[in-house]
Amino acid sequence: SKGAVSTPPRIAIEIRNAVKRYGHVTALKQISMSIKDNEFFTLLGPSGCGKTTLLRMIAGFEGTTEGEIFLFGREIEGLPPFQRPVNTVFQNYALFPHMTILDNVAFGPEMRGSTKNEARKKACEMLDLVQLSQFANRKPGQLSGGQQQRVALARALAPKPKVLLLDEPLSALDLKLRKAMQIELKHLQRETGITFIFVTHDQEEALTMSDRIAVMSEGELQQLDEARDIYEKPRNTFVANFIGETNLLPITIDAVHSGEARCQISQHHTLTCACEGEVNIGDTLHVSIRPERLYLSSKPIETECLQGQVQENMFIGTDLSTRIRLPDGTDFTVRTPNSERGRKCIFSPGSDVFVNMEQGAARLLID
Ligand code: ATP
Repeated sequence: SKGAVSTPPRIAIEIRNAVKRYGHVTALKQISMSIKDNEFFTLLGPSGCGKTTLLRMIAGFEGTTEGEIFLFGREIEGLPPFQRPVNTVFQNYALFPHMTILDNVAFGPEMRGSTKNEARKKACEMLDLVQLSQFANRKPGQLSGGQQQRVALARALAPKPKVLLLDEPLSALDLKLRKAMQIELKHLQRETGITFIFVTHDQEEALTMSDRIAVMSEGELQQLDEARDIYEKPRNTFVANFIGETNLLPITIDAVHSGEARCQISQHHTLTCACEGEVNIGDTLHVSIRPERLYLSSKPIETECLQGQVQENMFIGTDLSTRIRLPDGTDFTVRTPNSERGRKCIFSPGSDVFVNMEQGAARLLID
């Protein structure tokens, strides 16, 4: 019998060498990426890096200066927004205040040619999906911020877009509601199978929700990978710094041998780490070591181990964060989960300690 043949995922959106200039400002410099059908894809980067610009180009609110965008294989330059199988959820909800929730949600399908009855039926389904059916006859002003955001979602989903664009949709919500909505959004994406392209500057939010993340900075793509790899295998110093907390150590390449590089940290310390890109002896680069991949001890334990002195302990909820100073003045942050503190003792400021690196903790960064 024939085995199952795995087909490659369909590409929802392909961006090829897209450039966007506003007069002298280059908002996007030659961006290329493919977004798969059915994925939760996030554009992540600091303010001004070009996330919204890229989203607006996909939606059709902006044209490209150079390059091309394909939607399910079709080049879309010049196609007006309402003719694209794409819809957008905005940060400020943009609900019509004088219309009921039901009419707000029915608006999209009606604009796209559904009869009033069909549109209302679709709207009811969507309100069910976001669990707001009981509020169908209220006006937006009679709902909480989180509820309004769910109405905005229902409204954007009602015309059954193939791709949903979400521009910082949770930024107006308080932390607790935001966390709840993150789970709900993720769930909604799975349930509908619609490709979500989510924009945020919040790295934690991106890691929690995304299948894949495109990290951007100053109009350029820095790294595109699965969420876990973005955290565990940052490519360069920008990504390592922007995502989570890390220790960045300047190093010099001492030796390179079959996929591993020996890095000189100081006169007395070297460490070995995997290197995927091209590096040469004498290159000065950085390694990134996440604080949770380090642990402290009074005697050296791991092969990769540095000696230092405790500067400070900080209690941060789930973890204890300890700052260590090495003899050459470099500072290190080490995180110890509270649950492990019984086993791994706490060292008070001034103590001499060893900073042990777990196997594979050090990542060599390209630049
Ligand atoms: P934020 O998170 O603050 O929204 P962003 O990453 O979404 O930032 P964009 O809004 O895409 O960034 O802006 C990218 C760059 O393009 C910025 O330098 C911005 O000032 C510039 N820019 C955006 N829109 C215009 C415009 N209409 N005219 C001129 N410059 C613009």
